[in-house]
Amino acid sequence: MTERRLPGIAASPGVAIGQVFRAAEAAAPLSRAAIPAADIEREQARLETAIQQSRKQLTKLRARLAVLPEDTQAEIGPLLDAYLQMVGPSRLTRGARARIAGHLVNAETAVADETEATAAVILAGAPQDDPATAQRHADEVREIGRRLVRNLVQAPFRSLTSLPAGAVLVCEGLRPADAALLDPSRLAGVATEEGSADGHTAVMLRALGLPAVLGAAGIAEAAQAGMTAIIDGGARMVTLHPTPAALEAAHRALAAFARQRQSLGRLRRLPAVTADGAAVELQANLELPAELPLVTQSGAAGIGLLRSEFLFINAETLPDEETQYAAYRAIVAALDPDPVTIRVLDWGGEKESEALQQAGLLPPHPEPNPALGLRGLRLLLRHPALLEAQLAAILRAAAAGQARVLLPMVTTAAEIRATRRIMERVTRRLRRRGAALPAKPPPLGIMIETPAAALSADALALDADFFAIGTNDLTMYALAVDRGGAEVSALYDPLHPGVLRLVRFAIEAALRRHIPVSVCGEMAANPRLAPLLLGMGLRSFSMNASAVPRVKQAVRAARIDDCARFARRVLEESDPERIQALILEQTAGHSRGPAGF
Ligand code: PEP
Ligand code: MG
Repeated sequence: MTERRLPGIAASPGVAIGQVFRAAEAAAPLSRAAIPAADIEREQARLETAIQQSRKQLTKLRARLAVLPEDTQAEIGPLLDAYLQMVGPSRLTRGARARIAGHLVNAETAVADETEATAAVILAGAPQDDPATAQRHADEVREIGRRLVRNLVQAPFRSLTSLPAGAVLVCEGLRPADAALLDPSRLAGVATEEGSADGHTAVMLRALGLPAVLGAAGIAEAAQAGMTAIIDGGARMVTLHPTPAALEAAHRALAAFARQRQSLGRLRRLPAVTADGAAVELQANLELPAELPLVTQSGAAGIGLLRSEFLFINAETLPDEETQYAAYRAIVAALDPDPVTIRVLDWGGEKESEALQQAGLLPPHPEPNPALGLRGLRLLLRHPALLEAQLAAILRAAAAGQARVLLPMVTTAAEIRATRRIMERVTRRLRRRGAALPAKPPPLGIMIETPAAALSADALALDADFFAIGTNDLTMYALAVDRGGAEVSALYDPLHPGVLRLVRFAIEAALRRHIPVSVCGEMAANPRLAPLLLGMGLRSFSMNASAVPRVKQAVRAARIDDCARFARRVLEESDPERIQALILEQTAGHSRGPAGF
C-alpha cells in the first residue's frame, strides 16, 4: 500500500496520528407527500412527537457536556442551547406546523421546506462583511431540520460514544451535535468528506481541541478501518498509510504543537505588558452573546466592540427597549468591572433587515452606493426613536457595570453633538420614569472608520469621549475598495501607506487631546502588526476573543522604543509591498518563541 495525501479545509489545528475508525450512518430518506385535509391532525401529532423526541435527545446531550472540561463546556453549551431553543417555540417549529395545514403536506415535507425557507431568510440577511456567522446560523437551522426529519422517519442515529482509544474518526459528514459527543481524551482527530471551516462542527472540534480536516474529497472512499492516518489541521492535510519519514515528521509536529498550546494557555493569566513595562489593554469584539464565555476565557480585559446588530438580524420586528436592555445588561453585568463598549446599530445599506424594512425605516429604493448611503449613525439620526430606544437600553444597562456608547460611521462633529443631545434627553426621561441609572453618564465615543473622521480626528476629539479606529471600513473608504468585493480583494490592504497615515493621525490626535483610543478592526487581531501599532502610540486593542493570547504574546515580546523606531521606518515608506516586507522581516526577528506567526 502506498502513502496517499488528501487535502481538505483547515477546521481545527493540531496534529493527530492514529488508526482509522470508519463511522457510517444509515441515510434518513425523506418521502415527500401531499395529504388530504383529513390527515392534518395526524401529521401535526407526528410532528409534535418528533419535536418532543428531539428536545429529549438535545437535553440529554446538554447534560452529558458536564463531563467535559469547563472551557469546552462554555464554548459548546451555548450552541446546544441554540438548538434547544429551535425545538422550542421557534420560527422553525411554528412554520412547520403551519405548513402542514396551509400546504397540505406531510410532516417531513413541512419540516424540510420550512428549514430551507428559514435558512434562506438568514442567508439573505447576511451582512456582507460577516457571511460566516449567517452561514453558521443557517447550518444550525438545517441541523435541527435534519434531526426532526430523522426522528419523523425513525432512522437511527449513529453512536460515537465508544470509539477505540487513540482512533482517527473518518466519516462522510459529522453533525455538530455528534461532534459535541466526541471524547477528546480518547479520540486523536477527525477527517470528513464534507464540511466547512466556519460551520458549527468545526467550531465544536476547535472547542474540543481535536485536530481536524474537513471537506477532504475522497477520504470516505480511500480510508479503510485500521489504516494509519495523520491529520494535520494546520496544513489541511490527511495522510493515509504514511511513509516512515512522514510518520516521524508528524510525531515531531505533534510535540511542537503540544508545547505551543501549553505556552498560549499560560499566557491567559499573564498581564498584557510590553517587555519594558508599558501596560496595554487587550479587549474582545463580540458579535453574539453566545461568544461571551470565550471572551472571559481569552483573558480579554472587557469588550472593546459589541456589535449590536445581532439584535436586529433575523428579527421580524424591531427589538424594543426591554429586549435590548436585557441583552446588554447581561453582558455588562457578566464583564463587570471590565468595560463593555456597546456600538449602536451599524446597519449598512447593503444588508437586509426584515425588522427595519417592516418598520419602514429603510430607504424605499435600494441606494446606488449603499456603503456611501444611509448607514450607521446616519440611519439612526434619521429615525431618532430607534436611537432613543437603544440609548435608553444602554443607559439602564450601564447601571449594572461599566458601559460605553460607541457611534458608527461618524463624519462630522455635528453628528456627535446631535447624539449627545438625544442621550441627555433620554437620560432625563429615564430619570422621570424612576429608572436606575449609573452615577456618571457612560462615555460617548466614535468609530474612526471614514477618512474624513481620521483626518479631522483632532477636531472630533473635542466632542468625542473616546475613539475606536475601525480599520476594516477605514481601509475600504481610503482605498475605494469594497471590503467584500471579490474582484478588487487584492487591492484591499490595511498596510497601504494611505491607511497607515490615517491611523497614525487619529491615534496622535487622541493622544494630544488626552482621550482613550483603540483599534477594533481586524488589524488589531494580527500579532504581526502589534509592534507597528504600539510604535504609533496605541495602547488599546480590541479583537476576536481567540486572537487575544497571540496578540498578548506579541505585546509581551515588544519593547516600546524598538516599536517606535520601527513604526517611523514603516511610515516613511510609500510602497505597500515594501511595508509588507518590513513587517515580515521584523516578525522573523521576533519569532523566537513558539508564537507560530
Ligand atoms: C471596522 O470597520 O473596522 C469595524 C470594526 O466595524 P465593522 O467591521 O463592524 O464594520
Ligand atoms: Mg465598520
